[in-house]
Amino acid sequence: MIRISEKLRLQVAQNADFKCEYCLTPEFFLATTFHIDHIRSVKHGGKTILRNLAYACPHCNQNKGSDIASYSNDDEIVRLFNPRIDFWIEHFEVLSDGTIASLSSIGEATINTLRFNQLERIIFRKSLIEIGVIS
Ligand SMILES: [Zn+2]
Repeated sequence: MIRISEKLRLQVAQNADFKCEYCLTPEFFLATTFHIDHIRSVKHGGKTILRNLAYACPHCNQNKGSDIASYSNDDEIVRLFNPRIDFWIEHFEVLSDGTIASLSSIGEATINTLRFNQLERIIFRKSLIEIGVIS
């Protein structure tokens, strides 16, 4: 377990506007504490510095684990979405039914690995769409 100072943790959270940087769920609506994710995991040489840290909901963080890449539907190895260098809207799209669709192979690999479209997450996301929190 890597120790992350409260100051650094707050900086990551504020930079992310208190939303999961992978699935965009706002922390306020999930009755749990969000995690600080190492985008490039420590196992793969990632450092505990602001540029390598992302604010992540527990679902995304636990499903990502130390992964940095996965397979696309075409069996190509593809790196996962990196919120520091990638633009979310170039890789993902929220559909009105609450699912997140991929717009790229990076999006595809990330959706599958982080399990964005687990049933309970879709249902929760759909309710956030209905109350206007996510559009
Ligand atoms: Zn998330």
